[in-house]
Amino acid sequence: MAFSSSGANVPPGEAGGILTIDLGAITVNWRDLAGRAASAECGAVIKADAYGCGIEPVARALTAAGCRTFFVAHLVEARRARAAAPDAAIYVLNGLLPGSAPTYAECGLQPVLGSLDEIAEWQAFKTNGWSGGAALHIDTGMNRLGLRPRDAVALAKRNDLKEVGLNLLMSHFACADEPAHPLNAKQMGDFKEIAALYPDLRASLANSSGVFLDPDAHFDLMRPGVALYGANPTPGHANPMRPVVKLEGCVIQVRSVSPQETVGYGATWTARQTARIAVVSIGYADGFLRAAGGSDVRGGAEAIVAGHRCPIAGRVSMDLIAVDVTAVPDGAVKRGSLVAFLDETITVDDLAAHAGTIGYEILTSLGRRYHRIYKDGVESAS
Ligand SMILES: *Cc1c(COP(=O)(O)O)cnc(C)c1O
Repeated sequence: MAFSSSGANVPPGEAGGILTIDLGAITVNWRDLAGRAASAECGAVIKADAYGCGIEPVARALTAAGCRTFFVAHLVEARRARAAAPDAAIYVLNGLLPGSAPTYAECGLQPVLGSLDEIAEWQAFKTNGWSGGAALHIDTGMNRLGLRPRDAVALAKRNDLKEVGLNLLMSHFACADEPAHPLNAKQMGDFKEIAALYPDLRASLANSSGVFLDPDAHFDLMRPGVALYGANPTPGHANPMRPVVKLEGCVIQVRSVSPQETVGYGATWTARQTARIAVVSIGYADGFLRAAGGSDVRGGAEAIVAGHRCPIAGRVSMDLIAVDVTAVPDGAVKRGSLVAFLDETITVDDLAAHAGTIGYEILTSLGRRYHRIYKDGVESAS
């Protein structure tokens, strides 16, 4: 038995569902993104357990494909990335927590410095002998992390700047998934001006949607995340990425429900005719968002059952989902059957739309109780 990213894999016969992660598709997506830039390097964002897909298997697969630069959010993620990708450059987006510099040195990691306080602490640590590099985050409109442009201009003139050991300048788009938003051009313009003050640093601006925005957004290093994992970086247009995640739930029983009977908590779904309901062994405790349920007044998410698209009936429970399989021929779905909530035809974006959220939240919510299968990669589940 192989192991998933976060401890022991759940044996297939003991799990309520199966999560299949296609590492080959992640690799294809990375190559596709890399090919969209004339000369920029393509890195990979693997924060939040590689968007739920598993830091270690994803880092190994992308390293094998030629990826040399990874971004994570937290130090604890960086340690895991380092173990899986011993030679890669690993940047920690959330920067330097007080007192954490020795961990960066110990593991060969690089902080993304986002405030003057962080820069001062890193510089003090560096002058004690550590020679590792760091990135500098400039805020061009997000107002989240990063130096204000005027502070970046002042920093560029400081004659002790070399002591900070910067090797990368970065900023982050607020609206890259809305190509017509005026903030995009402003952020690109402001970032370009500041980058000119730091001619020795490589520059990085584009997230997934930024890769598709404008060649001017590519700079030296791109930082795609969600597109690697199959979500659509170009909302409103056909998805150029390959699907990565398949989520199947195991049917525990199929029951008949009479007209006017209701299904589930709150009695929000009523059978209009004699209905057949498949009860599936996953729920919101598995990260299947409760908001994706269906009721008499609002359609919910769907499942593929023996080739048929079937709606969820009623609220999603903690450990169970009811699916209306009335349209599926008798006998085609039974106790032990698998039904798919995510596959080639139901994308993470489709499920997100039904839950009133975005593909990012679907991916990063993927649960820990599934049996995990890694396809086409260095790790397989059996
Ligand atoms: C998460 C993140 C990314 C990746 O964004 P996607 O939209 O998932 O491609 C890139 N840069 C920063 C700073 C991030 O926080």
